[in-house]
Amino acid sequence: MVLSKEEKKAYGKKYYQVNKEELKEYSKKYREEHKEEVKVKLKKWREEHKEENKKYYKKYNQEHQEEIKEYGKKYRQEHQEELKEREKIIRKIYFKTEKGKQLQRRTTHTRRAKINQVIHIWTQEQYNDKLESCHGICKACNEWVGKNKLTLDHYYPMSKAKAGRTYSIEDIGFVCRSCNSKKGSEIQKSLKITEVIHYE
Ligand SMILES: [Zn+2]
Repeated sequence: MVLSKEEKKAYGKKYYQVNKEELKEYSKKYREEHKEEVKVKLKKWREEHKEENKKYYKKYNQEHQEEIKEYGKKYRQEHQEELKEREKIIRKIYFKTEKGKQLQRRTTHTRRAKINQVIHIWTQEQYNDKLESCHGICKACNEWVGKNKLTLDHYYPMSKAKAGRTYSIEDIGFVCRSCNSKKGSEIQKSLKITEVIHYE
């Protein structure tokens, strides 16, 4: 008996339906016993169908936009705590890198400056002179820490300053980090001297 293409297809389908569980079990077993082989084959297949797959996923994403959005929303809601934890870890790692450190300093300072909207009215020259005149010594504890480890200290804390308060060069000094944080003001903490916004 010669079967036509359609008939073969229908036959195959029916065969599959009838023996579904058995076939599933068989292929599962096969995959387990030929793990490496299957892996290599799958990899090869993916590489050979890269463009096709890309197109397929793109199309799929376009056609299921709403569904995907909904799913993402639901997933985020259900895994809130987990995601928060993960973000914390990522941030922790990222902020240890040079790039991350830079970003953190920048955003922190911008945020602080924005909250307070205080105005620094000194020139870079004035600032440099003042820093030089400290000779790397902390104004508060008189300990030498070196020029690069001195942090900017606003005599009148920025945290208490009203928006628009101006700070001239007379209103600032340089203290070591530990003195700066002892001062207790959140705003002052680790505000590095390189982050100063100044208006000429
Ligand atoms: Zn000090």
